Amino acid sequence: MPEFQTSPGMRDVLPPESARWRRFVRTFDETVSAAGYGQLVPPLLEDIGVFHRVGEATDVVSKEMYDFVDKGERHVALRPEQTASVCRAFVQHRPVTPWKVWYAGPNFRYEKPQRGRYRQFDQVGIEVLGSQDPLLDVEVIALGWRFFQQLGLRQVSLVVNSLGEPDDRAAFVVALRTYFEANLTRLTPESRLTLARNPLRVLDSKRSEDADVIAAAPRIANFHSESARRSLSAVCAGLGALEIPFTVDDRLVRGLDYYRLTTFEFVGRTLDSVQNALGGGGRYDGLVEDLGGPATPGVGFAIGLDRTLLACDDEGVFDAPEERVDVFVIDTTGGMNALLLTDQLRAQGIRTDRAYENRSMKSQMKAADRSGAAIAVIVGPDEVATGTVVVRPLRDGAEQSTVSRSELTDTLRKALS
Ligand code: AMP
Repeated sequence: MPEFQTSPGMRDVLPPESARWRRFVRTFDETVSAAGYGQLVPPLLEDIGVFHRVGEATDVVSKEMYDFVDKGERHVALRPEQTASVCRAFVQHRPVTPWKVWYAGPNFRYEKPQRGRYRQFDQVGIEVLGSQDPLLDVEVIALGWRFFQQLGLRQVSLVVNSLGEPDDRAAFVVALRTYFEANLTRLTPESRLTLARNPLRVLDSKRSEDADVIAAAPRIANFHSESARRSLSAVCAGLGALEIPFTVDDRLVRGLDYYRLTTFEFVGRTLDSVQNALGGGGRYDGLVEDLGGPATPGVGFAIGLDRTLLACDDEGVFDAPEERVDVFVIDTTGGMNALLLTDQLRAQGIRTDRAYENRSMKSQMKAADRSGAAIAVIVGPDEVATGTVVVRPLRDGAEQSTVSRSELTDTLRKALS
């Protein structure tokens, strides 16, 4: 075993898997850029207060943060999620609303590593600040849905709920606390701890021993005010109009504290039930204010890259793209010609590789084969003497030809098209 390895819950992503990651982000970029979203690149590190505002009662913030005091005595944390950073950036820069942004990149949570759960994990997401329109909620959900379709995923379910207006939610939380406290002995010790911090999160328990008492708990739907009901029905009507299938589940509470009204989750039906949320989001109308900005509504989602790719594996879709070069240069004269030719061809936009260390012709041919290139360009002493190169197709059995160096790019372009 080597002395140094990646820390628990952290991984190296090697080619060709890394190419798949890039394509994942590119596909997301294309989907949301076409809807008017611009990319925000926030720092990995924020003042820890940014995340405390998000919800001190959540595990993500209270137990799982990578935080430390830096050399300037600032208490900072690696971001556990990016919505808080988006809102902090909004307050700092005050862009024109509606502000529609997307992001992609790693987050850090000190969780127990397992399949689909890592300590460093990547997310893509969008956020819109500055509009309360429930049809914007529909746009946001629909963009997530269309993205899964772009990947080729079919086994994704959409679950929608409303956590009500802040007063509805507060009354619901009081009712939940009263109910669970009256049934304390029927809760697992873990859920009792959760109850002390945040009664809402008890509903998230996936432990079977908690199932009965949760099933009989008060339901948020009974606490919805008229405006919460109207908002939820507008969202449902919008999704229906777009023919996006969904179910309403009034047990859906999301992990983070800041949600109001609409919440939703995309569930991967091929994944284990404990780790089957591919992504989710909702409305967080109070968050910008909590971070010191003007009252500004917000809505968005985050989708986990790692877990979504596991779902792609399960469904056999969105494979790693083949990363091949088109041309492989073989130089038996020492290597300087390969240096010049590869540089010339790359400058012309032709994907080109070569071998090193002045190996034998046979060994260079093998390397050409491994590279997946369609064409070998061969240069030996005879070609140097006549200012030519040999162009040898490697795949389709076509005849090789000798061409002058000045004709090389055109010849390759034709052969490759
Ligand atoms: P959240 O920010 O907790 O709402 O999570 C949104 C999505 O990010 C989840 O549905 C997962 O796909 C992904 N995710 C969250 N935590 C992790 C983790 N520790 N490891 C891998 N993916 C994660």
